[in-house]
Amino acid sequence: MKKYAIAAIPADGIGPEVISAGIDVLQALAQRQGNIEFSVQTFEWGSDYYKAHGVMMPEDGLAQLKDFDAIYFGAVGAPDVPDHTTLWGLRLPICQGFDQYANVRPTRILPGIQSPLRKAVPGMLDWVIVRENSEGEYSGHGGRAHKGLPEEVGTEVAIFTRTGVTRIMRYAFQLAQSRPRKLLTVVTKSNAQRHGMVMWDEIAAEVAQDFPDVSWDKMLVDAMTVRMTLHPESLDTIVATNLHADILSDLAGALAGSLGVAPTANIDPERRFPSMFEPIHGSAFDITGKGIANPVASFWTAAQMLEHLGEQEAATVLMAAVEQVCAAGIMTPDVGGKATTREVTQAVVKTILGWQES
Ligand code: NAD
Ligand code: MN
Repeated sequence: MKKYAIAAIPADGIGPEVISAGIDVLQALAQRQGNIEFSVQTFEWGSDYYKAHGVMMPEDGLAQLKDFDAIYFGAVGAPDVPDHTTLWGLRLPICQGFDQYANVRPTRILPGIQSPLRKAVPGMLDWVIVRENSEGEYSGHGGRAHKGLPEEVGTEVAIFTRTGVTRIMRYAFQLAQSRPRKLLTVVTKSNAQRHGMVMWDEIAAEVAQDFPDVSWDKMLVDAMTVRMTLHPESLDTIVATNLHADILSDLAGALAGSLGVAPTANIDPERRFPSMFEPIHGSAFDITGKGIANPVASFWTAAQMLEHLGEQEAATVLMAAVEQVCAAGIMTPDVGGKATTREVTQAVVKTILGWQES
């Protein structure tokens, strides 16, 4: 019996709704597989914690999480707390503190889910976006001078290091190599940004030498939005900076049908620390408490977590059950269905357990 200690941080808005759905599904998988066990400890951190204590998580938060096998994260964001406070107070300290430098975002059109692309069919779009997750445009460097005065200046400094770019490039080439098409697209904006971005292109060419079986090409980020929309089948694995990949992956989520199905993994590839798994979407306070949040992103990221833990079979079972339930039309309203979060969750749980009985 393999036992995994999972730290759940449901946090804000629909976070608790989709994370509790995900935990139900994980427990069903454990029951079906019979050889794995999950002990889940829930941490009540987030915006309510902030309102009570003035911080999003306790000072020793990272120390409390450090020995878990993985972190299962909901979303942050509340109408009455500034977004930069919620983000920099909880999600980013975990990503940066645990050096989760590879942010991995798979995108596929699931059966039964309508893509806004006119000619889209399942299988036509099968991407993994690798986002640099530790530096770049979100390094937090910069400042403001002459605050409030007409001559005020704000700087937002993007930091690219040879170490940081090389390790994400290496991760992306390895991932591309592990996928059937062995295809990698390196995204930059090296025509207009002529320092860090040119370094990206150069390092890509250097790392590529070690992966002769991977075909790779370069794209400028603006042209990339066009290619994703008009020629989705021409792409497979994609690597981009923190900001560029943030934007491209929201587009990818939309092209695959809904933000409510898009998952993400914040990985420490060296496995010194727990990695963190979360839906891409935010706290969605417009639908919080209505029971209609789409739990599929939360299930899909749970599958990413299982893969990272080495439980490939459980991950495959989980995604097959999700696809079967989507194909049967048991879906939430954001993807055109009528089902509630609970109903989708129960259908996935039943599918997983049903296979056990037969
Ligand atoms: P959002 O992702 O919360 O919502 C965007 C739209 O998509 C909303 O209409 C919402 O109802 C819908 N949606 C999102 N997830 C859904 C799901 N699972 N099922 C059905 N519909 C879903 O983005 P937003 O509205 O821009 O931001 C809301 C808050 O979330 C803000 O405070 C923002 O800062 C925060 N946010 C947090 C994260 C994160 O925690 N990683 C990511 C993005 C936004
Ligand atoms: Mn984003």
